[in-house]
Amino acid sequence: MVRITLVQGDITEQQADAIVNAANSSLLGGGGVDGAIHRRGGPEILEACRALRASHYGKGLATGQAVATTAGRLHADHVIHTVGPVWSGEEDRSSLLASCYRESLRIAAELGARTIAFPAISTGIYGWPMDDGARIAVETVRTASAAPVAEVRFVLFDDTAYEAFSRQVT
Ligand code: ADP
Repeated sequence: MVRITLVQGDITEQQADAIVNAANSSLLGGGGVDGAIHRRGGPEILEACRALRASHYGKGLATGQAVATTAGRLHADHVIHTVGPVWSGEEDRSSLLASCYRESLRIAAELGARTIAFPAISTGIYGWPMDDGARIAVETVRTASAAPVAEVRFVLFDDTAYEAFSRQVT
């Protein structure tokens, strides 16, 4: 089973084999984690995303899917971009959020990553309630087959996020 660790901080400062980006379907940048990753990782990441749009991902990346690029200047080998669902009070989109974690892990494993850092996908601009986002994240990672990934690190930006994830792992 993978080891789950929690840290409070900025995901762009992490050292890991793979860092997950809470991207949007355009793959061409946005706010929150996405903006921070492109700012700190440099233009190489956006170039790689543009190349994906020009080839296999002409219509962008679908919600719940994931794709890897270079990590540019980040302290990582890969950035794995995944598109979380926007929160909806009418429709249960939990399986799409779980899919983000599962697909990102599957791609990390394919790339031979041993450590992967995740943000709390969908809990920012996309409005997912933090406690529920934390529950789905931890449950999905716990039950996913991830070898050779040995450590899944959740990097939580603020106290609220850190506490919500802490309640799930203890
Ligand atoms: P989404 O569009 O999927 O909601 P966001 O990037 O808006 O993605 O937010 C996802 C989560 O990441 C939120 O909890 C937000 O507070 C947090 N966050 C924002 N910037 C960073 C960062 N640099 N490092 C780690 N977490 C971050």
